[in-house]
Amino acid sequence: MNARDLPWRRTRDPYAILVSELMLQQTQVSRVEPRWHQFLAQFPTLHTIATASITDVEEAWQGLGYYARARNLHRTARLVTRDGADAAATLPGDAISLRTLPGIGRYTAGAVASFAYGQRTPLVDTNVARVLQRVFLPRAKRKVAATENALWELAERSLPGTSAAVWTHNQALMEIGALVCTARVMRCGECPVRRVCATYAAASVKKRSTASTGARAVAIAVQSSAAASRAISR
Ligand code: SF4
Repeated sequence: MNARDLPWRRTRDPYAILVSELMLQQTQVSRVEPRWHQFLAQFPTLHTIATASITDVEEAWQGLGYYARARNLHRTARLVTRDGADAAATLPGDAISLRTLPGIGRYTAGAVASFAYGQRTPLVDTNVARVLQRVFLPRAKRKVAATENALWELAERSLPGTSAAVWTHNQALMEIGALVCTARVMRCGECPVRRVCATYAAASVKKRSTASTGARAVAIAVQSSAAASRAISR
């Protein structure tokens, strides 16, 4: 499986990663990419955005929609930099602290903590939830609290032991959900987790049993036709 070369995967700057995550919440990757570069050129640090006016920030966000994201980013920057007084301030490095900031939910906190700081922190977005559910809980009801909680627990339990591997692990899960195990299609043949996937195992069993039922039906048909031919020729 070839991962996409996305610009926010080449940085460990927590602010730049937060901007990408907020933009990606409601907007397609292809639209986000150029806008992410433009936005960071105008506001390269938390401090530059904290000291900008909300009107300038909203203007820079124009075309992306859902302006609450821009307003939350501005509020976060002002909170973290103490209204611009601390020019060197950075985002907190753990998911719990990140979640106290405006507009940063459980997934976004996990993304910033693991991608920027290499924290052993799980993340579950729509793509990751789909993959985990198909791999571990194919029969669970979707979009109910018990399943959501179970998926977060699974995401946590499946994290690699070292923080160095967490970045790769979380990115890989997201990539499988985006490219291989999508809402429309399951490309199991090229999926790196098929050996441990319950959905794949169930489909393989079904295929084998359909194949053997088919083979038995063909054998019976051949025998019947041979018997019929013999009866006719007598
Ligand atoms: S093996 Fe198939 S069903 Fe399982 S995660 Fe991969 S693509 Fe999805």
